[in-house]
Amino acid sequence: MSDATAKKEERRKFQAIRGTRDLLPPETELWNRAEQTAHEVFSTFGYGEIRLPIFEDTALFARAVGGETDIVSKEMYTFQNPTGLAAMVRENEMLGTLTEMSPESELISLRPEATASVCRAYIEHNMQQLPQPVKLYYMGPMFRRERPQKGRYRQFYQIGAEILGGTDAPGIDAEVIEMLMTFFDKVGLQGATLYINSIGHNADNCRRGYVAQLKAALEKVKDKLGSDSQRRIDTNPLRVLDSKLESEQAIIATLPHIADHLCDGCKTHYAEVKRQLEVRGVLYQENWRLVRGLDYYMRSTFEITAPGLGSQNAVCGGGRYDGLVELLGGPPTKGIGFAIGEDRLILSLQESGKGQVQQGRDIYIAWMGEKAYAAAIRAAKDLRKAGFSVELPPLEQKFGKALGQADKLGAKYALILGDNEVSEAVWTLKTLSTGEQAKFPEPDLLEFLRQQKKVSS
Ligand code: ATP
Ligand code: MG
Repeated sequence: MSDATAKKEERRKFQAIRGTRDLLPPETELWNRAEQTAHEVFSTFGYGEIRLPIFEDTALFARAVGGETDIVSKEMYTFQNPTGLAAMVRENEMLGTLTEMSPESELISLRPEATASVCRAYIEHNMQQLPQPVKLYYMGPMFRRERPQKGRYRQFYQIGAEILGGTDAPGIDAEVIEMLMTFFDKVGLQGATLYINSIGHNADNCRRGYVAQLKAALEKVKDKLGSDSQRRIDTNPLRVLDSKLESEQAIIATLPHIADHLCDGCKTHYAEVKRQLEVRGVLYQENWRLVRGLDYYMRSTFEITAPGLGSQNAVCGGGRYDGLVELLGGPPTKGIGFAIGEDRLILSLQESGKGQVQQGRDIYIAWMGEKAYAAAIRAAKDLRKAGFSVELPPLEQKFGKALGQADKLGAKYALILGDNEVSEAVWTLKTLSTGEQAKFPEPDLLEFLRQQKKVSS
């Protein structure tokens, strides 16, 4: 390497990897608000939080999500587990328990979704012995190597919930959806539309029979379809219905509908889910083309779209997956859940003007003089304890300059502390939006600010 290239290397600026991004203040305030709302709403429905590992055995996702899905076949970040390091750890007696705790797997993947992990945890911790159903929710990053664009990232965030065990009574499906709509409402999402469908169950007199007919119908129009859909006729024909290709829409409209092929059990279940939604005052639209991309879904499927997102307008997808726990080696277990795309939720809130966050400090303390600094430190402590956001500059500045700083930071008030104020124990508070100044004896100041806060919140 020449000196010049070495220098250039040294000075290289790093950037976040394509498809990943930093979430910065004040926007993170909005993320926190959404997450806080999820904690609150979900717990009123009796859900508890589960925190899952970021990576798992690749085989878990291959089995649960399905080897034919885009996610598993091409979008996962998969690594060889560094066994060299693990072997070293094993030799180290001190860390011996580490290898006992988790048997090594050859291949590990960053999680592309979390339902598989929740089911793995349900089995691993024998949760079938708990009172059923078990209601869990999670939030955190997921990873898929997709083409990055608006509303589509390689590291993105989901907030999701799952109900495992107990019955598959339609009231469960309806309540999960009700909880979801309650969350969206509380978080301030406007114009959300709920789409529902039933994709039946995997039997000859139900979905399997339908898929065979669909396949036959697709074979007849094969040469009019794009290459993705052509491939899916064999691998995952239901997914053709999901196609957004303009040129395929007219053909898809002529394909058989699953509603005409549901068995009696699935038909009744679906009708009852719709009735239960109505009882709960949840508005929905039916969409016969709504099939989830993952193999494990059955019966109820649903999706929620929101405005302001362009073509990536789905903010939530979910459905019933009664066979999944068993597929992963657990007991037969009913299951249903959803995942909200948090990135898209936040985008939609911002687009609709609901994304404003208060970013300024409550109080900027402008002080001059050693004694005033000591009083300022004490005041900052008390005000912060009372929940105010306080900026206390570490260096003395002229009052004019300090007030300018306070303005730049968007502070509501400036607390002015100079020698006079300290010796008289009467403090000056300036309301920056109006320029009004008022003097308060020290104890009254906190009380005044508390009252103001109550009025504004
Ligand atoms: P899409 O059809 O939009 O790709 P999907 O069917 O792949 O969605 P799910 O696996 O059901 O999505 O995930 C649930 C939600 O997670 C989606 O509705 C979406 O809001 C969000 N989501 C999925 N993939 C991404 C991504 N790459 N970037 C941001 N959000 C995503
Ligand atoms: Mg996708």
